[in-house]
Amino acid sequence: MSYIEGADRQQAWLLPERLEDYVHADNSVRFLDAFVDSLDLSALGFQRATANSTGRPPYDPGDLLRLYLYGYLNRLRSSRRLEREAQRNVELLWLLRQLRPDFKTIADFRKDNLQPLRAVCREFTLLCRQLELFGGELVAIDGSKLRAVNSKRRNFSERKLRATLAEIDVKIEGYFQQLDAADAIEPNAAQPTAAQLQQKIEHLKQRRQQNAVRLEQLQTSGQTQVSLTDPDSRSMKVGQSTEVCYNVQTAVDAKHKLIVEHAVTNAVTDMGQLTPMATAAQQTLGVARLEVLADMGYYWGAQVKECADVGITCYIPKALTSANTQQGLFGKERFAYDSEQDCYRCPAGQVLSYRSSSLELGRPIRYYRAPVSVCRTCALKARCTRNQEARRLSRWEHEDLLDQMQQRVATQPSKMKQRKALAEHPFGTIKRGMDAGYFLLRGLEKVRTEMSLTVLAYNLKRAISILGVPKLLLAVG
Ligand code: SF4
Repeated sequence: MSYIEGADRQQAWLLPERLEDYVHADNSVRFLDAFVDSLDLSALGFQRATANSTGRPPYDPGDLLRLYLYGYLNRLRSSRRLEREAQRNVELLWLLRQLRPDFKTIADFRKDNLQPLRAVCREFTLLCRQLELFGGELVAIDGSKLRAVNSKRRNFSERKLRATLAEIDVKIEGYFQQLDAADAIEPNAAQPTAAQLQQKIEHLKQRRQQNAVRLEQLQTSGQTQVSLTDPDSRSMKVGQSTEVCYNVQTAVDAKHKLIVEHAVTNAVTDMGQLTPMATAAQQTLGVARLEVLADMGYYWGAQVKECADVGITCYIPKALTSANTQQGLFGKERFAYDSEQDCYRCPAGQVLSYRSSSLELGRPIRYYRAPVSVCRTCALKARCTRNQEARRLSRWEHEDLLDQMQQRVATQPSKMKQRKALAEHPFGTIKRGMDAGYFLLRGLEKVRTEMSLTVLAYNLKRAISILGVPKLLLAVG
């Protein structure tokens, strides 16, 4: 049996003479080229967008932008890899017209154009809107933790620093005891000498000093943790473990799973991200009404109301985190609210009527309680409350909005399934398909630009696969 044979390396071969002939009509680089041509780089704020009449000519920012767009579309994100590919990759030779910038020029371009690069991502989002690639009716908001350039060993919380200091103190104490013992006994080759012990103590004292300074800085900064390599990154829960990461938020449109909006924060949870993401998506889509799906990590009454006030309808399941539920007692969901009578009805069928109001953390709260005599004699009391007298319930002034949302979530389970499918598609593609589940740059500002390039590449990929290169070329031509 034989194998498929390659060509003889010594054989003369007539390759096409024009670089143009190597790039097919529907190759994505043709769209990248036309898209960059369609941008007003000067208005977007790119440095050197207007060439100087004197001095050594720089690279055209459009060419370096082409290089980055190609790189992020093709799993090439580092400046050194982009430099290498620009020298040998036929598509890049075509796209850059055989320009071969060195890695420093490539890296500096990204560093010097953080805001303009983000603006390019927005320009493409607006193009997608113009091409009606967004449905503008339903978006899913979700967050994912992407690893920062900072190891776990170089991230400290106050608790970790205190534990390290205590550990160092114990070690220093141990070495001092060994020093005392060494004075009392004959020198022994198996034991460290007094000089060696002194050296270890000095080393530990230095470490102690460093950690004490970090602890002091942490306490004065008001932060909960400090990262040494990338000071903006934070230790966050990822699955069952923790990693030093950034929290990437996306709002994904239901029509074609394109990312409408994204943001990068160093907040360790998704709490508080609902309003900024939902309103930004609404503005980008240019719609008055929008449905938003999110998981229970976004459940925050005040933000659900903020969204409702501007025409955004949220679907967020409620997490059963009440202390009563955790203690095995009836949770509030077991009590039915009667809006006409303004009272609750408990699992025993008794009425909890309105008693008083107060402000809790600035929120107007109303309190409801069953008659003491009823609760005291209730057969379900052991499962209902530890309170000696009667079960009490609190209700936020706008809790009807949350009740309505729970009703929507309960009656439309398909929406929550859709949330999962919508939100996970982009993150799965970004992390696995595009190998962009980690950042290469340090600092929130740079990381935000890196993410914008990744989101732009994801949307480019989707748009090319939905419409094809020829239609996209027509749109920017
Ligand atoms: S203890 Fe009171 S509130 Fe609880 S189930 Fe019994 S009657 Fe109802």
